[in-house]
Amino acid sequence: MGQENQRPPKRSWAEPWKVKVVEPIRMTSLAERQRALIAAGYNTFLLRSEHVYIDLLTDSGTSAMSDWQWAGMMMGDEAYAGSRNFYNLEAAVREYYGYRHLVPTHQGRGAEHLLSRILIKPGDVVPGNMYFTTTRLHQELCGATFEDVVVAEGHDPDDESPFKGNVDLDKLDTLIAKVGAKKIPYIALAATVNMAGGQPVSMANVKAVHALAKRHGIRVILDATRAVENAYFIQQREAGYAGKSVRDILKEFCSYTDGCTMSGKKDSLVNIGGWLALNEDEVFEEARNLVVVFEGLHTYGGMAGRDMEAMARGIVESVADDHIRARIGQVEYLGQQLIDAGVPIVRPIGGHAVYLNARAFYPQLTQDQFPAQTLAALLYENSGVRAMERGIVSAGRDPVTGKHHYPKLELVRLTIPRRVYTQAHMDVTAESVIEVFDNRAKATGLKMTYEPKYLRFFQARFEVI
Ligand SMILES: *Cc1c(COP(=O)(O)O)cnc(C)c1O
Repeated sequence: MGQENQRPPKRSWAEPWKVKVVEPIRMTSLAERQRALIAAGYNTFLLRSEHVYIDLLTDSGTSAMSDWQWAGMMMGDEAYAGSRNFYNLEAAVREYYGYRHLVPTHQGRGAEHLLSRILIKPGDVVPGNMYFTTTRLHQELCGATFEDVVVAEGHDPDDESPFKGNVDLDKLDTLIAKVGAKKIPYIALAATVNMAGGQPVSMANVKAVHALAKRHGIRVILDATRAVENAYFIQQREAGYAGKSVRDILKEFCSYTDGCTMSGKKDSLVNIGGWLALNEDEVFEEARNLVVVFEGLHTYGGMAGRDMEAMARGIVESVADDHIRARIGQVEYLGQQLIDAGVPIVRPIGGHAVYLNARAFYPQLTQDQFPAQTLAALLYENSGVRAMERGIVSAGRDPVTGKHHYPKLELVRLTIPRRVYTQAHMDVTAESVIEVFDNRAKATGLKMTYEPKYLRFFQARFEVI
């Protein structure tokens, strides 16, 4: 006390929780992993989790719940109709996201399905800031064409712009002029943009998208799956928001949209669940009617009462500034180690994951030799760390021409589950990625031996070339 500070105080992102229960995980031998890879057709989705050491396949449904959430599980009201947990969830969505009406669904794609069915007519066009796999497929199954209107920086893994998820307003304007507002049922705005590397949308951009859409009478529907993470980036990067809470930023962001689809398995810190939220009464009426056909009654939508309670409580925890700072701090910690070692990753580091740039790993491979799929397989073989391909396999085929989509980005996603792994797990992951990078000249690529019709990345099989 009384001493003058020599330097500004440093405070790391250490987690605002301590561990109460542990789940053992097992290390495997190289021979075991090689056998497991062949059995899985070199697709990390087809590995058994018991063969995985550090599982960075996805942040979806893989969060650790808090003691308060687990206590909520015991408060499940499993009444078929009118469960009190539904009303708690509805209140949480209203309070933190600000939408008027809630339709619960079993997970995010359930909400996408209902929304697409209600709003899309065959021949429609849905603009969006980069596609997401399930979102685009539901739009296409209802007869729409997806049009990418993300800013060009979103497709450039080396561009350091702070808001690479933004909508390119000129592109959107041109598209509206070309196809006509009547053919555009809504603009699909994702925050953050998963396929661009977890990149955020600025408040200024959502405001401008909203204003442009209103001029033409077009809705803006938010994919709110990681909107809390997006709000944190606004707080950190956008002028005027440094002093505001993530909670307030989230609510302001949502206020520029007309509704949202939500996968609660991400931001909301639960293992299962989702919802569709809407401000328009008529669209809500229709959704509340359709949910009964595809998901379950409108007060549970495919979820158990206890799961709705865990999600209601997860929403409250998810918007706490110290939680989100530690969550994204851990992702940045891993990403920074890789940057320091010269490993090519998407920059800036995203909210939920570090994305390895597989094209830069393997310039010797063509995109038809699946560089990102190859990298994910080699990383698993090296250490038992499981990642996911986000490149040509995930992009699928054009439904009209039957040709591969050739995305600019060929990425491997190291996705960090929330509140699950320690800093030491991040260190081991970085060490393994660096070793695979050092051996990059030896990679020979893969060929696809089995291709499912829908969302092929989940079940496709490969062989080494
Ligand atoms: C996971 C995800 C979805 C789909 O949600 P599910 O709960 O997996 O059905 C939609 N959009 C984005 C951006 C996602 O990450």
